[in-house]
Amino acid sequence: MTNLHDYIRDIPDFPKPGIVFKDITPLLAHHGAFQACIEQFAHSIEGVPCDAVVGIESRGFLFGTALALAKGVGFIPVRKPGKLPHDVVRQEYTLEYGTDTVEMHRDAIAPGQSVVIIDDLIATGGTAGATVELIEQVGGRVAAMRFLISLDFLPWRDRLGDHDASALLTFS
Ligand code: AMP
Repeated sequence: MTNLHDYIRDIPDFPKPGIVFKDITPLLAHHGAFQACIEQFAHSIEGVPCDAVVGIESRGFLFGTALALAKGVGFIPVRKPGKLPHDVVRQEYTLEYGTDTVEMHRDAIAPGQSVVIIDDLIATGGTAGATVELIEQVGGRVAAMRFLISLDFLPWRDRLGDHDASALLTFS
């Protein structure tokens, strides 16, 4: 089986000192690794109700769109403020210093629909937690959350309640 770890590159001190950035571009560039990654995502949500995949800007779009095609469902983008053209729902969340906001089209999910959230990486859980709130604001159900990478030395689970959340690769 392809070891996805082999295709993640650590970039120390990017984008600022003290951060080790997990660079996923080697994985994207390798057809076999990218395909194995999407297969592993699909396998990880077998049996999970999934009417659509929700991807978080921007690297969540890369994995989320491919997974949506593999599962035969639609894709819904969650974006940074001011990018979506139609009526949006908005959720603010706290960062270490300050706040950030995510938006989604209000009509993207019908009440009662089940979705799976996808992103490349979960660190503090702030972005994914705010995405859960967005989906619940419009009456959607978060059936699962999947990440390529989780940074398990950070308390991201605290921000996700009891949701089914896991990663293909964990770093502790
Ligand atoms: P958080 O809201 O803290 O869970 O951060 C998750 C978002 O920030 C994801 O969309 C990631 O793409 C990005 N991110 C956070 N930390 C890193 C890291 N060390 N390497 C790459 N991306 C990161």
